[in-house]
Amino acid sequence: MTDCLFCKIVAGDIPAEKLYEDDEVLAFWDIAPQAPKHFLVIPKKHIATPSDITEEDDKLVGKLMRIGSQLAAEHGVGDGFRIISNNGAKAGQVVFHLHIHILGGKEKPWPI
Ligand code: AMP
Ligand code: ZN
Repeated sequence: MTDCLFCKIVAGDIPAEKLYEDDEVLAFWDIAPQAPKHFLVIPKKHIATPSDITEEDDKLVGKLMRIGSQLAAEHGVGDGFRIISNNGAKAGQVVFHLHIHILGGKEKPWPI
């Protein structure tokens, strides 16, 4: 996808502060953090939203969760973090390339 911000980050056309990278997955710090530790984990493959996940992506999506959790632990918030993925503009999705937010280190818990 040429017109996708996160595909451009994957391609190296836009810089990001990376925490982790392999052939399938990339993790980088969120540019506008909503918690002391806030990063995004994305598949390198372009999938627009959670609703666009197909059965062939099952393993890849599981990997996002595993890598995100491991990185949370490596960055000192393994005992308390949230995993969020917004689906669609109505839910607040702004970048239409699948990503999970990992938010940790916030003292007061969120309402849900
Ligand atoms: P969402 O609202 O779920 O689509 O989340 C998109 C997230 O991407 C937001 O938290 C933004 O702050 C973050 N974001 C947008 N552009 C960048 C960028 N260039 N580098 C890192 N994070 C970004
Ligand atoms: Zn993309």
